Amino acid sequence: MAEAYVEALRGIVPDERLRVDLAERYSYSFDASFGEYLPDVVVRPDSDEEVSEIVKLANEYNVPVYPRGSATSLSGGPLPVHGGIVLDMSQFKHKLEIDKENMIAIVSPGVLTSDIHEAAAEYGLFYPPDPSSAHVSTIGGNILENSSGPKGLKYGTTKEYVIGMNVVTPTGERVRTGGRTVKNVTGFDLTRLIVGSEGMLGIVTEVTLRLIPEVKARKTMLATFETSVDCGRAITNVLSKGILPAAMEFMDNACIRAVEHFKPVGLPVDAGALLILEVDGHPYSVDDEMKEASEVCESAGAMTVEVAETEEQRANIWKSRKMVSPAVTEMGPTKISEDATVPRGKIPDMMERLAEIREKYNLNLVVFGHAGDGNLHPNIITDKRNTEEMKRAEDAVSEIFEAAVELGGTLSGEHGIGTLKAPYMVMEYGEAGVELMKTIKAAWDPNNILNPGKMFAENGQTKVELT
Ligand SMILES: Cc1cc2nc3c(=O)[nH]c(=O)nc-3n(C[C@H](O)[C@H](O)[C@H](O)COP(=O)(O)OP(=O)(O)OC[C@H]3O[C@@H](n4cnc5c(N)ncnc54)[C@H](O)[C@@H]3O)c2cc1C
Repeated sequence: MAEAYVEALRGIVPDERLRVDLAERYSYSFDASFGEYLPDVVVRPDSDEEVSEIVKLANEYNVPVYPRGSATSLSGGPLPVHGGIVLDMSQFKHKLEIDKENMIAIVSPGVLTSDIHEAAAEYGLFYPPDPSSAHVSTIGGNILENSSGPKGLKYGTTKEYVIGMNVVTPTGERVRTGGRTVKNVTGFDLTRLIVGSEGMLGIVTEVTLRLIPEVKARKTMLATFETSVDCGRAITNVLSKGILPAAMEFMDNACIRAVEHFKPVGLPVDAGALLILEVDGHPYSVDDEMKEASEVCESAGAMTVEVAETEEQRANIWKSRKMVSPAVTEMGPTKISEDATVPRGKIPDMMERLAEIREKYNLNLVVFGHAGDGNLHPNIITDKRNTEEMKRAEDAVSEIFEAAVELGGTLSGEHGIGTLKAPYMVMEYGEAGVELMKTIKAAWDPNNILNPGKMFAENGQTKVELT
């Protein structure tokens, strides 16, 4: 059976873009999360026509299709859990056009996000979504995960910038959603439905992005606190004062120590937590807002408040934040990275819940993240060969999800549901909510061809499974 459809695929794409050898398939069997699943075949399509023909053929042979960008997903998004075809979209990158007059970018799905940042900047324009993985992840992956980063606080997530797309549907039809205009209320908003749909409702083959003018000035501050809860309170107080920073990033003591151990940048290792706060806009308002934000941090009990006076100092502050992920990775062989998100006012409560979970399960649980929008990244550092500790980690992860939902938050602020969080969808949306999503999926994809095994729990799975 596999041979029959693979032979049929050879009629659509040339041999050099179709791989069946084990080594190649193996390198497509994982992403940045857990689990390994071997596809039957890897295909690198080069045009909308090819994608459409591949998907039609997959429907004919009833074979799953797994679209994939750079596979940096932290939730299992591109994993070929039922084998079949991996559709490698990372090489689909012919186009990166900036239309300065209309302030838009027209981009192929395989283009790296950082290349869009650079291309926009050359025209004095700004594409704000900035996942930490921007130098390796594709815009296609960003769109299907609705990714964001530090700037999500002020500028929103990827979905705020996608205004049009070319899409191949799960049955192989080619459709256009949205367009080149910022305003568009014609018909159902299919663009918004597809953004964040984790590759389950369509394959994106071109995207039109809205750009904004580059900001004129920025100021960055680093404040340290005795405890995470104090820092959480400062974050909430800054926002309730009416200041909307471009970014507010949080690191707990374990992250501070990890960075200083990994590549020292002079962070105070005795601080319980630190906050990186950046304001941007007109030079006058930036100075005022930074002064006000500094005062709020001081009255929330900050141990130190330092505002960068030079570009070098500013870069050094951000370097410490960028070092967190690699530094934490060095702390142990297995990193479980979560991104449960709570309403901003509940950040101090979430900090407390995380401290309780750390103690209860006796785990190396470190916390950093985009605290200004409530999107914390609790990371459990463990070793997947230690099955007893992995079981405790599974329970701790479940409890992190419960805490977030109980506090009025969500399972995922930016990493998506994929395979890992599927069992918890009902906890957040209830049976009826999940059934409605399944109805949409079934209407678009009657043969369940596109990225099956994601978002909705399969095989009676009731909790996160890491072992
Ligand atoms: C070190 C590190 C840091 C990270 N930091 C952040 C962060 O700050 N913010 C954040 O939001 N995420 C972050 N991530 C997660 C990850 O980088 C994002 O989810 C990213 O958008 C995935 O892009 P990708 O190209 O790797 O896509 P993949 O992981 O390959 O795929 C992601 C999803 O998109 C689907 N897909 C990909 N391309 C297409 C397409 N053309 N058409 C249809 N479906 C498609 C896949 O099926 C899958 O469901 C980080 C990951 C790592 C490893």
